[in-house]
Amino acid sequence: MSPNHAAALLLALVFGTTPVEGLADTSPVLVIHGGAGTLSREEMTAEREEAFRSALRAALDAGFDVLDDGGTAMDAVIEAIALMENDPLFNAGRGAVFTHDGRNEMDAAVMDGATRDAGAVTGVRLVRNPVRLAREVMTASPHVMLSGAGAEEFARARKLEMRPPEYFYVDRRWRQLQRALDEEAAAPDDADRIGTVGAVALDRFGNLAAGTSTGGMTNKRWGRVGDSPIIGAGTYASNDSCAVSATGHGEYFIRAVAAHDICARVRYEGLSVADAARSVVLGELTRLGGDGGVIVLGPDGDFAMVFNTSGMYRGVRAGDAPGRVAIFADED
Ligand code: ASP
Repeated sequence: MSPNHAAALLLALVFGTTPVEGLADTSPVLVIHGGAGTLSREEMTAEREEAFRSALRAALDAGFDVLDDGGTAMDAVIEAIALMENDPLFNAGRGAVFTHDGRNEMDAAVMDGATRDAGAVTGVRLVRNPVRLAREVMTASPHVMLSGAGAEEFARARKLEMRPPEYFYVDRRWRQLQRALDEEAAAPDDADRIGTVGAVALDRFGNLAAGTSTGGMTNKRWGRVGDSPIIGAGTYASNDSCAVSATGHGEYFIRAVAAHDICARVRYEGLSVADAARSVVLGELTRLGGDGGVIVLGPDGDFAMVFNTSGMYRGVRAGDAPGRVAIFADED
């Protein structure tokens, strides 16, 4: 046990600051994703592939260090996601896709598996790390979900870092919008939304947490909200079943209530997290016509990364084993 971990346990016992189940010393696990969709080796340059792999590794290590030091699953989830939000490679925070009107409108949510407290924000434009705002909604407001200007007023009151619209501008995303506008009548291209980020974690106290952050879909309009900030659709965590973060065509994940359905199958049908994830993503969701994937983690450390697309940016780190990252479907 690291000195930090011992100190955290002691604090938790004396002040009750962290939900502790007995004196459980669970081996920590962190699973992350950076979006799912049509990803092929042929269409990706070696530099771009390496940039994604190293960004995933950095997020995995930053989040896992929190767990290793005795931090909570929620802190680890926030750390990993915030790092990806700051990286313009991903469709979250800086690098978020553009709406029809040429703006960035971001959604995020977090959920704590121990308490089932949750916080979410939709349509925020100027908050550097929407995932941190989602946590503030959970811990410092009486509400679960805030939207748009109200959410930003709350962010300012909580002294979160704000950024001007230019900060979020990424040329590649702007060009994706121009292309989508040109081809408006055509079916939307999933390459124009890949890059949503998410994380699920299990801490040393045996608690789960989940979080997701996204810019949504390129060319979205009318204040469209996806699945990511909707508790039970794109994000869910409960210690009695599992923690889930989803990525993909949000309208389908909402209609399938995908994240909650996976946990319900674990809880009521006694399925493993892998079987539950497969039955929802490869079964329900695929039948509805939705594409995407999920990362799922159970309280015993079992995890699954399941998707019905040709790739999902993803990574996992558990116990003493080194972190692993992958992109394409044929990788481990
Ligand atoms: N699920 C996100 C949304 O629909 C997009 C994605 O994950 O690619 O907003």
